[in-house]
Amino acid sequence: MSYYQPEMECATRESMRALQSERLVKTVGHVYRNVAYYRQLMEERGLTPDDIRSLDDLHKLPFLTKNDLREAYPYGLLALPLEEAVRIQSTSGTTGKRVVAFYTQRDIDVWEECCARAIVAAGGSKRDVVHVCYGYGLFTGGPGLNGGSHKVGALTLPMSSGNTERQLQFMTDLSATILCCTPSYAAFLAESIEQHGIQDQLSLKAGIFGAEAWSEEMRHDIESKLNIKAYDIYGLTEVSGPGVSFECSEQAGMHVNEDHFIPEIIDPDTGEVLPDGVQGELVFTSISKEAFPLLRYRTRDLCVLTRDKCACGRTLVKMSRITGRTDDMLIIRGVNVFPSQIETVLMNAGYPANYQILVDRVHYTDTFEIQVEMTPEMFSDTVKEVEAREIELLTSMRAMLGISPKVTLVAPRSIARSEGKAVRVIDKRKI
Ligand code: ADP
Ligand code: ZN
Repeated sequence: MSYYQPEMECATRESMRALQSERLVKTVGHVYRNVAYYRQLMEERGLTPDDIRSLDDLHKLPFLTKNDLREAYPYGLLALPLEEAVRIQSTSGTTGKRVVAFYTQRDIDVWEECCARAIVAAGGSKRDVVHVCYGYGLFTGGPGLNGGSHKVGALTLPMSSGNTERQLQFMTDLSATILCCTPSYAAFLAESIEQHGIQDQLSLKAGIFGAEAWSEEMRHDIESKLNIKAYDIYGLTEVSGPGVSFECSEQAGMHVNEDHFIPEIIDPDTGEVLPDGVQGELVFTSISKEAFPLLRYRTRDLCVLTRDKCACGRTLVKMSRITGRTDDMLIIRGVNVFPSQIETVLMNAGYPANYQILVDRVHYTDTFEIQVEMTPEMFSDTVKEVEAREIELLTSMRAMLGISPKVTLVAPRSIARSEGKAVRVIDKRKI
């Protein structure tokens, strides 16, 4: 078994807790002294750094939300003089105005080390060729995995996204062994590879896919099409970028880099901290960042934490795959609907993950349609057969969601592909 930083990845529980306590106390002092926004938040609760003596006091600290970041934009949460920072990255803006995060050189090193842990956990070493087609630029995906690959000493292909022909050419000519991109782009590349009939020219063995939610079914689909093992990786710009957590050889949940980020699960409605094993909203406290440390940042991502012993030997806590974002949950006719539920039904029924959810409001009633691409084989079916398929899918959707969508099967390749995060939901309701 290989690790990038075994002393952290396989530390005993006690030594990890001691390290977390020490770093937490230091971080709270740092932001209290240097960030007026935090000082005020803490003062409003009658807190001073003396109240935070160990990990057990974490719950006393106030939460921070994306709105706080938007309010403090751009410099309000910067904890060092601007001249100490060397990089700015920004969120994708999936849910509204983008926010920015600042990094010192050390912050970047830590972030890249986290990505290096992920690459090594996926079987990567200096003998690999890492093909990175996450977007480069303000988005953290490209720079994060690029830096991680350098730390591992692998040969790095900084492809960025787009230009499929060139992706396929370099992937085959330069014998890429590890592919890093969003799962939806991986599915698209797999589709293009099949189309070109070049599967046997690939040297890929693993993929590191993240930045958006994907299902177990989608994993199997990509794995079989590309003949690789596909690993999940999670992160968010506010907390650093990809590599906050990563999957190991067990492919059953992502190990959180707890020496840098303390995770908590809370009830999104009450803010109450929930025990391990219970699903809720993920909250992170970064404890080693210099330029942009965030205390108890509410990610709005839903998952479960578990501390069961992992066969890979890592002792880092695991988070389950993200089942949704509290803000991508749709409320349709009063019922909560997550795109991930829809995807699970589709993949179980043998459809590709090319679908779009259309929601509108007509005469005060929500309309709800799911458009799903057929595979080329299905497309040659008769109209009657297609109708029968639609009814079958509708029945499974109703069973999963508790409400009835309109299900429409559309021609292969008729739904726009995304090079970054897929756009699954088009909500035209003006509420
Ligand atoms: P934005 O919130 O604008 O999308 P980022 O580009 O920083 O900003 O993306 C971070 C978000 O992407 C996370 O909060 C999460 O919702 C999603 N995400 C990242 N990695 C994963 C993953 N492996 N599985 C599911 N969702 C993920
Ligand atoms: Zn593991």
